[in-house]
Amino acid sequence: MSTIRVCPYSGKSVIIAPERLHRPFEFHNPIYEDEIDLCPFEKGGESFTPKEIFSIRDKDGEWITRVVANKYHALSIEASEESYKEGFFTYAQGLGAHEVIIETPSHFLKANHYTLELYRAYLKTVILRIKDLENDTRLKYIQVFKNCGYKAGATLYHPHSQIIATPFIPPKVDAQIRRCKRYYLSNGRSLLLDMINEELREQKRVIYENDTFVAVAPYASSFSFEVLIAPKVQIHSVKNINAAQKIDLARTLKAVFGALYSLLGDFDYNLLFHNSPPVRDHKEIDYFHHIEKFFTFNIQIIPRLNTIAGYELSSGVDINPVAPEFAAQKLLKEISR
Ligand SMILES: [Zn+2]
Repeated sequence: MSTIRVCPYSGKSVIIAPERLHRPFEFHNPIYEDEIDLCPFEKGGESFTPKEIFSIRDKDGEWITRVVANKYHALSIEASEESYKEGFFTYAQGLGAHEVIIETPSHFLKANHYTLELYRAYLKTVILRIKDLENDTRLKYIQVFKNCGYKAGATLYHPHSQIIATPFIPPKVDAQIRRCKRYYLSNGRSLLLDMINEELREQKRVIYENDTFVAVAPYASSFSFEVLIAPKVQIHSVKNINAAQKIDLARTLKAVFGALYSLLGDFDYNLLFHNSPPVRDHKEIDYFHHIEKFFTFNIQIIPRLNTIAGYELSSGVDINPVAPEFAAQKLLKEISR
């Protein structure tokens, strides 16, 4: 029988319907590979990208990760903050930042083959870009995400993540902040940490853990084989992790992607960072009060195996054919191999 579960963190309802899962084959994607000759992110092709914003280089001066402005950016840092009336409607110029993190010079490198060193370089790049963009007080939220593969919305094959910084807190983030704050005001603790502690106590959906981080198939997973990575201690933004915690996070990412790839083969996915926003002036005077205590940063990995269709789009309720307990069991087996 299917179950309807509610995620306390996202507030979303999901229908877990294993009955809909009859063909294991549907989880294997055809492999597609872009023409490497046309790739703008190759070594030697640096002049094809917009100006470099940041890079991490090895001792010979060769880049390991590289950040450039998105050539086809959705937002621009040169826009003004003004908003204008257009009859019934209002609009503002597209102020913000849109950057691309080229994660490696290797066109075909998949996340399961990243070394720990590369994950550390990736995390360092993410953290330094967040810190730098947060210096611009016009920007209210810095969203870091990765689209890998066609089904996840990627238009280039070469491993890359993106950063979109907006002059407003996006509605999903705002709703998460409010939910976590309500929980904190009545319980005095972080909602996400309580959720993680429950997962650690139950051990039904835990996939991997080390000193600082844990990876679980969340109780109310909206997507098949969805993975949530969260710290076991209160950290509100990835920018606040120390050197040892960075290594633990790199290890967690490596273990999780290793398990996902060996279970699913070459698959498309989105990776989403959920960080607390920088503290800014806000029309609600206590909006940011104690945010460092009630908002816990986390990373969500969403394999794009099933597509979002009419019911999901119209209702905001997802139907997931893979029970998270089953997903965790399978992934755990891959990790302990
Ligand atoms: Zn490439």
